[in-house]
Amino acid sequence: MSGLNGNSFESLKLKLYKIISPILMAFMIVGWYLEQQTAGYDPVNNFMIPGLISLFLISTAVVYLREQWVPYLERVVLLIMCVLSALKFTYVVYNELEYTMTLGKFVFWLPLFYIFLFFVFDNKFAISFSALTFLWVLISGLIKLPDLMGTEAAGILVHYYLAGLTFLLTLFYLQTIKKAFIRSEVLEALANTDYLTSLPNRRKMDNIIMEALNKKHQDKKRKTALIYLDIDYFKKINDQYGHSAGDHVLKEFSEIIQTFLKADDVLGRWGGEEFIIVSNKKDINQASLLAEEIRSSVSTHFFEHVGHITCSFGVTEIREDDTLDRALSRADSSLYMAKHNGRNQVISDSKQILSM
Ligand code: GH3
Ligand code: MG
Ligand code: MG
Repeated sequence: MSGLNGNSFESLKLKLYKIISPILMAFMIVGWYLEQQTAGYDPVNNFMIPGLISLFLISTAVVYLREQWVPYLERVVLLIMCVLSALKFTYVVYNELEYTMTLGKFVFWLPLFYIFLFFVFDNKFAISFSALTFLWVLISGLIKLPDLMGTEAAGILVHYYLAGLTFLLTLFYLQTIKKAFIRSEVLEALANTDYLTSLPNRRKMDNIIMEALNKKHQDKKRKTALIYLDIDYFKKINDQYGHSAGDHVLKEFSEIIQTFLKADDVLGRWGGEEFIIVSNKKDINQASLLAEEIRSSVSTHFFEHVGHITCSFGVTEIREDDTLDRALSRADSSLYMAKHNGRNQVISDSKQILSM
């Protein structure tokens, strides 16, 4: 499954904060140094930059030392950055714009604030908060606009508003698209995964087998085997030890099988206590040997709560003229024969009994 769940998103954010917070602090210190060297006295920068340095210093300490405070920290940082940037913007528009014809260097940093907002918070909160900030900036600028009319400053201001609005709308739509994409990925993963064992489920295995059939139709030399397996007397395990002990056996069983599989093999849960292995690049004999190894390992394994269990196997190889039903029913017949012959054994189409 490729979707992120809540916990992994939180830990990913924490990792990013651990890197970003000290970097931002270092940038601010450099900015503060440059400000001291070059610019004239700027009352806003004079308290804004030291304020931001302290903020990122506290953030760095919190993300490293008090992880549980991070959700509060996010909101505090957001609020402070929002107020500071809106104050700075207002100051520049009222005191500098008409002389300098620029909104100043800090405008370069504003997108960072909006990206942070959309990354950390859900879309509704992010759009409402950014709309409020934008509204503050817009209203303070519009009040000043009549004084600036006819100068280059008016054009700069209007351009800034248009770009800001476009930027916000783009972020909002990108976020919406990303959410829809993640949702469809998660839904697809859920639809194809068995809840108990996390293995591919029958729907997914159907597709995998169909794909193998198509490849066989295109390349007659290609080998793919199917191993159909069913735990013996599983009902008794449930009856004797309870359903949850049975569930536990199913999980442990699937874990054992996976230790025998190579990259070309796929194990899926077909349903109940039945599983299927699609074994690419193996002919019927190689797949029967694999099944035999699994059978032997399962029969000697001590399962938690229930002790020893056994399993029966039916093996077949996909043929050129096969359909899904035909291939499966051959594997099923072999499995039936393995059960009929006394269970705990591997039988392939060629009716060759490998073990008893
Ligand atoms: P055989 O050797 O002939 O395969 O006998 P069996 O008892 O294994 O087969 P049967 O089909 O009679 O019983 C299968 C049992 O598997 C019945 C059902 O309650 C149980 N089962 C199916 N799915 C689950 C599951 O998800 N969890 C648990 N605990 N039991 C399940
Ligand atoms: Mg069974
Ligand atoms: Mg069964």
